[in-house]
Amino acid sequence: MHTLSHCPVCNSENVKNAFSCIDHTTTQETFQVQTCNQCSFTLTNPRPNDDQLGKYYESNDYISHSNNQKGIFNRIYQMVRYHAIESKFKLINGLNSNGLVLDYGCGTGEFLGYVQKHERTVLGVEPSEFARKQAIKNHQLNVLSLEEFPSISDNSASIISLWHVLEHVSNLRETLSKFHSILNDQGHLVIAVPNCGSLDAEIYGPLWAGYDVPRHLWHFTPKTLQQLLESEGFKLLKMKGMPFDSFYVSLLSEKHRTGKMNPIRAFKNGLLSNWKARNNPGKTSSVIYIFQKK
Ligand SMILES: [Zn+2]
Repeated sequence: MHTLSHCPVCNSENVKNAFSCIDHTTTQETFQVQTCNQCSFTLTNPRPNDDQLGKYYESNDYISHSNNQKGIFNRIYQMVRYHAIESKFKLINGLNSNGLVLDYGCGTGEFLGYVQKHERTVLGVEPSEFARKQAIKNHQLNVLSLEEFPSISDNSASIISLWHVLEHVSNLRETLSKFHSILNDQGHLVIAVPNCGSLDAEIYGPLWAGYDVPRHLWHFTPKTLQQLLESEGFKLLKMKGMPFDSFYVSLLSEKHRTGKMNPIRAFKNGLLSNWKARNNPGKTSSVIYIFQKK
């Protein structure tokens, strides 16, 4: 295990235990979630060392990296994901319709494969060898490992996207700084992450599925993500809510709480969360942030 002694956003040492969370997906181990008293950034601390993290991803339930279509829940997830891919493509294409699209943490490559089919030049980065091979085999993509990532040229990308990935990245500042070099001056950095300042996070507390310890090392809110990115030379252009995530996260959170999905209650809480966020995308369960270089 590894303990951070300073807040990675504001560098304060005043980081205190907030609550504990259980790893509901793989090990049932308990992890501490801490909050910085200076800037309110929230993080899993201590966390497994980089070389120990692999085992926390070894689960049949961990569907981000697989196309296993068993079970109705996974089928719905896959269906929603397909529509999500389409809307993600429209979003990035509306920002920059030319130039390289770099998807960091591309998983098995469904999003990037879709982008490539629409005549865009694409490049993926993916730490999991299994997912990388699937992406290359199923979508004929060019996908780099983490070790190869630093070799990408400066000013080469017009879009860098991270779809629910930044919360998994252990060397946060080093990675953001490299994004700053790779992105061209007109380019956009698009980051989607869970929002621990959302109403569904409030409702479920430590059982909120968006904490997903220890895989999620960082738990962002619009305030803390913006502060971090600004300190790395980016400015926020806009935020966009992800209303489907409220339902998905509420279903998983219900399962954590009672062992069952409780679809009716999850739907009610998802709806409530979206209603509260109707005029404020910064309150949705997950948020898409669009940044440019300052
Ligand atoms: Zn801080």
